[in-house]
Amino acid sequence: MKDTPAMELRGVSHVYVNDKGAYLAVEGIQLAVARGEFVSLVGPSGCGKTTLLSLLAGLFSPTIGHVLLDGKDVTGPAPQVGYMLQQDYLFPWRTIADNAAVGLEIQGRKTQRGMGRVEEWLAELGLEGSGGRYPHELSGGMRQRVALVRTLVTEPEVLLLDEPFSALDLQIKLQLEDLVQETLRRLGKTAVLVTHDLAEAVAMSDRIIVMGRGPGRIVREIIVPEALRAATPLQARGLPEYSELFQELWEELEDKEEGVHGA
Ligand code: ADP
Ligand code: MG
Repeated sequence: MKDTPAMELRGVSHVYVNDKGAYLAVEGIQLAVARGEFVSLVGPSGCGKTTLLSLLAGLFSPTIGHVLLDGKDVTGPAPQVGYMLQQDYLFPWRTIADNAAVGLEIQGRKTQRGMGRVEEWLAELGLEGSGGRYPHELSGGMRQRVALVRTLVTEPEVLLLDEPFSALDLQIKLQLEDLVQETLRRLGKTAVLVTHDLAEAVAMSDRIIVMGRGPGRIVREIIVPEALRAATPLQARGLPEYSELFQELWEELEDKEEGVHGA
């Protein structure tokens, strides 16, 4: 079943219901992500990006439509899906190695072999010998790498990344973009990245999904040119295609903001 998308949202609409009433967050979402593909979701705040990731993660079901993983209906969080958030949520009282093993623990896989893989991944991401340290001893970039180890060590097939780099200094962010893209490519993983950083979307993705608000929907889909896809995110930023695509996205989103505020 090579052609079955790794992930799919089919005719998805979602209504949040709380004591203030009902709110249509996203409507008529149609999106298929191929195996090994890196897709970014961009769009104004409140357009439903996190909602779509939560649906893909199986945290709740859509009000209308279907969410599929490998062609099968998602009924809840699945072990083959890794979710990485903007905040690292490391437990301050746990060592780095034990923090990185939280996902394994939840899945009942915190074995000696599992801990061996934690050490390997820490080393792979430049944190060799840090396993015994505590979160407060680490920089923001290091903590975010621990969060990445925590996600990767459970060996997910697909990664859902919700603004994982947005709280980091620019230089660290650029380094992590390269590291994450290279790692996911090498392992053939599928990824969906939510970002408000258009430069990041252009530098990292195979495809960019532009969303609009009121209610949240897909307004445009951009296939990233081959030259950019073949380059590392850092190299991509130096190519002429990069500024062209950035400009195009910028204009697209500028229109979106105006449309909403009715200038
Ligand atoms: P984004 O990630 O693009 O900023 P979200 O998916 O977080 O957008 O939210 C989409 C819309 O749904 C927003 O208007 C938000 O206020 C609303 N929303 C999100 N979560 C809830 C919730 N639990 N209850 C009610 N409304 C929500
Ligand atoms: Mg969000």
